[in-house]
Amino acid sequence: MPVIAVKNLYKQFGKLEILKGIDLDVHKGEVVVIIGPSGSGKSTFLRCLNLLEQPTSGEISFEGKSITDRKHDINVTREKMGMVFQQFNLFPHKTVLKNIMLAPLKVKKQPAAEAEKVAMELLRTVGLEDKRDSYPGQLSGGQKQRIAIARALAMQPHVMLFDEPTSALDPEMVGEVLEVMKKLAEAGMTMVIVTHEMGFAREVGDRILFMDGGVIVEQGTPKQVFGEPKHERTRDFLSKVL
Ligand code: ADP
Ligand code: MG
Repeated sequence: MPVIAVKNLYKQFGKLEILKGIDLDVHKGEVVVIIGPSGSGKSTFLRCLNLLEQPTSGEISFEGKSITDRKHDINVTREKMGMVFQQFNLFPHKTVLKNIMLAPLKVKKQPAAEAEKVAMELLRTVGLEDKRDSYPGQLSGGQKQRIAIARALAMQPHVMLFDEPTSALDPEMVGEVLEVMKKLAEAGMTMVIVTHEMGFAREVGDRILFMDGGVIVEQGTPKQVFGEPKHERTRDFLSKVL
């Protein structure tokens, strides 16, 4: 059974049709990387996966349960899907440690001692133990994004969704964030990642999806999509970004 199953997904904003029939199965431990030009619907698709956007039609299942079913409580599923955005959205008036502990305390009702223990482990994972008492404003962009990843992981999600997590960073900070994501992938996390980092996509992706105009134009292993793209649109896009 796939962790995420998407069937014939459509999304319109008013009369504008943005997603035009997307099908996708994501399996446990799989790293799916979505590439494609700006405006092709990548973010909209990712946001549909946890219903930050309500699909116009189609079905999305998570761990075998339809989440597009009106009766489904999406908050339960959202806890299992961590999401990291281009903008870090950390709470500026809370320390790094408190940022990471917040959702486990409030949503999961974890005891404080346990939440702190988990948060410290995650800070070690992202290499920022010494920043526990810092405020977001005292961190670099790369450090903020690593904290945002730790904060998402604190909920012990089954899947991580990343929407261009390095696009807002200065170039010298991109590597440290990709390194954390690579470690997560190696640890077996199921991930769906939208990125323009083609080297990373090639190295870490199990499967590459090329989206354009609201459809998946082509998909395959990194070797297939980067090495021998079948479609003219894919070749055209790759020629511009590689
Ligand atoms: P990508 O992430 O591939 O750049 P997006 O999913 O952000 O693409 O956007 C796809 C299209 O949908 C764009 O034309 C964008 O303007 C439009 N769009 C995205 N969100 C909204 C919204 N909330 N309302 C209206 N149009 C939107
Ligand atoms: Mg986007």
